[in-house]
Amino acid sequence: MEKDNQIMILKLGGSIITRKESPFPIINSQNLKRICMEIAESKPAKLVIVHGAGSFGHPYAKKYRIGQKIKGNENFQEKQLGYSQTQNSVKELNTRVCQHLLTYSVPAVTLSPSSFILTRNKRIESAELSILEKYLQMGWVPVLHGDVALDLDENIKMAVLSGDQLVSYLAEKLQPKRIILGSDVDGIYNRDPKTDPQAQLLPIVKSLKDLETLQGARTVDVTGGMTGKLKELLKLAEIGIQSEIINASQPGLVEKALNGQKVKGTIITK
Ligand code: ADP
Repeated sequence: MEKDNQIMILKLGGSIITRKESPFPIINSQNLKRICMEIAESKPAKLVIVHGAGSFGHPYAKKYRIGQKIKGNENFQEKQLGYSQTQNSVKELNTRVCQHLLTYSVPAVTLSPSSFILTRNKRIESAELSILEKYLQMGWVPVLHGDVALDLDENIKMAVLSGDQLVSYLAEKLQPKRIILGSDVDGIYNRDPKTDPQAQLLPIVKSLKDLETLQGARTVDVTGGMTGKLKELLKLAEIGIQSEIINASQPGLVEKALNGQKVKGTIITK
């Protein structure tokens, strides 16, 4: 695909737009509203938004063990329903995100990954990007979201597709000029800043290994989402694509980043 230096990718973490720890779906309207306003203010020429699923996806994906081995036909049918339920729930979140964007006259258009992406063993195998590119070219703002996907591995048949994997895939294909991931922390720390007040923000991260050696092997607690996120972004860094994690719960940072300004955060690079 041809390099288009105008494109920006903005990821809105599930931790920002939902109450992520909730066992049932709850939206964070305050954050969502403010961030949509910031997006509208910055008016980037070509923007792709990817948002996480947060509490609209994880409770269902977990309950039905989407992505785990299928044990017989009955289990398949149970998972099939769970897949649909997960998709329905993340679509609901996506509708809310797009509604907020529209309120501020951002021409958002949904592209649900489960309808144009296939995975193999939980990694994106193929995606029909020509429609997304056409929308971008014409000035729409495509909005993708953490979703489920059909998986070509017969043992699992279905996968959970994280917003972070989507960002990494799209970045490789679209070669955007900036990749911004908004989370609810300032960036990557040497330890989880939510459980360790002594944790220090790392302005640059070049490898997972580097991060671990800062505190001695295996003692660094980069749990759950942040590890997965970092792994995706390091894969990108390896092929020369730099990305950054910023704190989207801090008013103004998303807008500044979209305006091309340097903001506090962590840069993931080679
Ligand atoms: P999002 O939903 O915003 O995409 P995640 O919830 O998956 O992001 O990951 C962000 C969370 O990761 C933070 O809220 C933080 O508590 C946790 N975390 C764990 N370890 C770290 C770390 N070393 N640095 C930063 N955040 C970390």
